[in-house]
Amino acid sequence: MVVEIISVGTELLMGSILNTNAQHIAKKLAHMGLDSYYQTVVGDNPERLRAALDVAFSRADCVVTTGGLGPTKDDLTKEMLISYFGCTPTEDPEALRRLEERAARRGTPLSTSMRKQATVPSGAIVLQNDNGTAPGVIIERDGRACIMLPGPPKEMIPMFETACSSFLRGKSDKVFISVNLKLYTMAEKGLPVGESPVADRLGSLVDGENPTVATYAKEDGVLVRVTAAAPAPAEARSLLAPVVAAAKDAIGEEYIKYVEED
Ligand code: ATP
Ligand code: MG
Repeated sequence: MVVEIISVGTELLMGSILNTNAQHIAKKLAHMGLDSYYQTVVGDNPERLRAALDVAFSRADCVVTTGGLGPTKDDLTKEMLISYFGCTPTEDPEALRRLEERAARRGTPLSTSMRKQATVPSGAIVLQNDNGTAPGVIIERDGRACIMLPGPPKEMIPMFETACSSFLRGKSDKVFISVNLKLYTMAEKGLPVGESPVADRLGSLVDGENPTVATYAKEDGVLVRVTAAAPAPAEARSLLAPVVAAAKDAIGEEYIKYVEED
């Protein structure tokens, strides 16, 4: 399955906050063996969000959105998705119960804007929010899925780990596992360990398709990443083992600072 991430929020567009949600989700998708080729950032604007959804669904089967699920006027992701999928809005009793309980704890009546958060598309899977107020939602219609998650990372990450990961894992027929070989820097070892000498040493290993071998020039030294895809982790690890060993031999053990599974 092909998945795209749409990060909703004018704060992201203005550079006021860093898009750590997209980074987190992208990494998880890669581990789950789900293909993801594009990411979009769009402001809190219904027309532009609709246009971004059109583009994303022209390339992907599933779109994951973050942001815009809260109680304020600029939180329009859910309303837009309800209309986009032609769903009927309905109130989720558990989400409403949680909101009422929270309001009662604070000794305040539940406001209309807070109550709005309990509205979900009918037929959707509701992801209750244990760390905030707005529930997440998964809509599946006509072979397309949309997962809507809240913006704050402390709400988004746990929600993604629980309900959302199991939904997505069910859509993937493979896992990706990577092993990182971190090399010493030139200053640390006084050896020619720049990216291109390392790539030269790896030779035809970098042409492999599964596992793939890639080099990255990082500020703290070259990184060589070996990645395998397989139906299960054990199979991925057995594909990785001989290639990691060959890469170590090719580079030379004395150049390698550490090796870790990512
Ligand atoms: P809330 O109920 O807090 O309004 P929300 O789902 O409506 O949540 P937003 O209003 O879009 O989310 O964002 C709320 C906050 O979450 C932002 O101010 C920011 O701190 C954080 N946030 C939103 N999107 C991202 C992102 N892509 N990466 C990191 N943090 C984010
Ligand atoms: Mg908000």
